Amino acid sequence: MTRYFWRLGLTATFLVGLLAGPMPTNAADKKIFRAGAFAIDITPLELPVLVNGNMNAVSTDTVNDRLHARCLVLDDGTNQAAIVIVDSCMIPRSLLDEAKEMASKATGIPTSRMLISSTHTHSAPSSYGCLGTDADAKYVRFLPPQIAKGIAYAQKNLAPARIGWGMGRDEKNVANRHWVMKPGIAPTNRFGGTKDDTVMMHPGHNNPNAIRAAGPVDPDVPVVSLQSPDGQPIAVLSAYSLHYVGAKALSADYFAVFCEKIDGKIRGVSTLTGKPRPPFMAALANATSGDTWLMDYTQKERRKYDIEGVAEDVSSAAFEAYQKISYFDWAPLVMEEKLLTVGVRMPSAEEVAAAKEMVKTIEAGKNMSLEQIYARETLLLNDMPPTRELKLQAIRIGELAIGSIPNEVYGSTGLNIKKDSPVKTTFVIELANGCEGYLPPPELLKLGGYTTWRARTSCLETEAEPKIRAAVLELIGKVAKERAEEKAVASKGR
Ligand SMILES: [Zn+2]
Repeated sequence: MTRYFWRLGLTATFLVGLLAGPMPTNAADKKIFRAGAFAIDITPLELPVLVNGNMNAVSTDTVNDRLHARCLVLDDGTNQAAIVIVDSCMIPRSLLDEAKEMASKATGIPTSRMLISSTHTHSAPSSYGCLGTDADAKYVRFLPPQIAKGIAYAQKNLAPARIGWGMGRDEKNVANRHWVMKPGIAPTNRFGGTKDDTVMMHPGHNNPNAIRAAGPVDPDVPVVSLQSPDGQPIAVLSAYSLHYVGAKALSADYFAVFCEKIDGKIRGVSTLTGKPRPPFMAALANATSGDTWLMDYTQKERRKYDIEGVAEDVSSAAFEAYQKISYFDWAPLVMEEKLLTVGVRMPSAEEVAAAKEMVKTIEAGKNMSLEQIYARETLLLNDMPPTRELKLQAIRIGELAIGSIPNEVYGSTGLNIKKDSPVKTTFVIELANGCEGYLPPPELLKLGGYTTWRARTSCLETEAEPKIRAAVLELIGKVAKERAEEKAVASKGR
């Protein structure tokens, strides 16, 4: 044995080290971080298709631009995780769990290490019945296997990578769309479960009855960058708290234009080494935009905007942060998942009885009125269980943490999670791993307004927001705890 080592030319010092304790780091046992990306086309094969995100059902047979599930697989040598951003308004947990099961069978990545979120484009096929639109039955069958394939292809693309992150800022395209109004001004929906609403959405400019925006917004543009060891861009994951811009269906809205633009900005400046460039993928997740849109009602005039301009602003903010990123050759990848059961604001017997009368007035093939829509929602909720089981997650990559919530999350919730997170760079991805509706904090829920009206898209109990926020912070605390241990190990080894 000894002679064998000597023959290999190993020094006596090395052998002592081998017998006495941990080996010094050499090239062979250096930890390798890897990343693989793949954007799979999820444009429906069969048209027309139902589109949700509007009060009443819309059907289209036009593809204005392609839809994708943008899949990123990360691997720290011990753990793998998948992060997928889907061009969809919202996808229920059942469909995502189905996609994860299929992807897990194909890749070996545990389902608990997959985060799949919707961008919340309002111009995509309906995967979930809400308000006046049902799910599109054919698309619901098409989507899960397609997402699973995307994750498997991303895993096949795994290659050594370095990772870094930064935080940009775009204040221009985030403003609170909810305003506190003078008494008696905000509309109240008699089938929405609220009384004497004082908050309304989109009060307009120079409205003398508008008092103040109902809450803060988050202008952050986090950027996570993956590059090959020699600096070739592999993928960028970003997020922004803008509800959407608005596009004609089918369309991925500004989310896809952001991806094209950041690709142009990044690859335009990448160092050319003469080697073929690896494929590049960008993805823009929705951060916390439940109460956030781009129209600022503190301004005197309505601004002009379009998808192109918004995508240019947000991608420029992301690119500014990108240029300042410092990279790590290796970083630990830690992920935790938790199921949290929360109650539902169930309608009362009287509300159900009134709703039954109202739905009798619905005429087949005709658009429903607001009251008819919410009466129908009242009956649908009444037939559903009084609790919901939510899937919450936290991912940590080195000194970066990502929390995920399956709701349309308000700006204040995201800002509070960032403030209370033990990890310096933290951001939240909403509508991840399910779609459980708007999540107004209790103090805002009691003010009423569209996003509080009881429906499948807003039905969780009054205290849901603090419970969910605490649970996500607990998960971030858990993934951050190992960080302290990593540091201890690192300093002992030094
Ligand atoms: Zn929405």
